[in-house]
Amino acid sequence: MGKESIYKQYEPAVTPQSKAFGKVYWFAFCANDMLVKVENGSYSIPYMNDLREMNISPVRAQYLGLLKGCPCYSAEIASQDNIPLGMEFIPLRALFDLIDMDLFLLAGKAFQIILWDQSHQFCGRCGTPTQELPGERAKSCPKCGLITYPQICPAVITAVFRGDKILLAHAKAFKGNLHSLISGFLEPGETLEECVQREIMEEVGIRVKNIKYFGSQPWPYPNSLMAGFTAEYESGEITVDGTEIEKAGWFSPGNLPELPSQVSISRQIIDWYIQKGL
Ligand SMILES: [Zn+2]
Repeated sequence: MGKESIYKQYEPAVTPQSKAFGKVYWFAFCANDMLVKVENGSYSIPYMNDLREMNISPVRAQYLGLLKGCPCYSAEIASQDNIPLGMEFIPLRALFDLIDMDLFLLAGKAFQIILWDQSHQFCGRCGTPTQELPGERAKSCPKCGLITYPQICPAVITAVFRGDKILLAHAKAFKGNLHSLISGFLEPGETLEECVQREIMEEVGIRVKNIKYFGSQPWPYPNSLMAGFTAEYESGEITVDGTEIEKAGWFSPGNLPELPSQVSISRQIIDWYIQKGL
């Protein structure tokens, strides 16, 4: 994986150490869009004492910790109306390549925390308003004691190789002739490796062996963690399920279809395969 971990520069925390902050980074979202400052065609995260300086009152905000010593907050904004000049709301995914990579990754974290905070205001078991658990990114129910943590849904994504060829599939949901790796969500009680085998069997009817971990990537659209794998073809012929996957095939590095964006681990695995020249 080419990307450096943001944790070299970032110290997560739930509670600010001091109230006497100067400027802070504001990762402010309205639905799926993040508030960014646009200046001469370049994009940046609002960096100021308080969003109220722009007459924006967040519905709720969460402390995220320090990035290079600067405090960071996520905030939920109710409406995109009355945004000051020079500020824009842009879908999070579209900001890949437009802002600094550390800030982009932290924005993904901010987004997931906002969604979790927003959807866990009440206990999922008894409906009582929840309370923040001090010092932890968690909420507890004062009535029944249920504790909830930010929800993260693991999914696997696998590059299957047969000789020098790679298995790529076109899902019904994909645009144009875009092809990607086979992926799917983990089921309760399943190991990641079992999930790899099951998803590939279900979607394209192929049996695989020699499953190896490649790397992982948070995928905040809205709350997944993608675990990337490679595997070798063992047996079977491609039979697409027809519901999720429309077509699939074995491709050589010199003859690839339209590939997913650089933002995804899928593309990172495919690029690794191309560079390594199997
Ligand atoms: Zn409860």
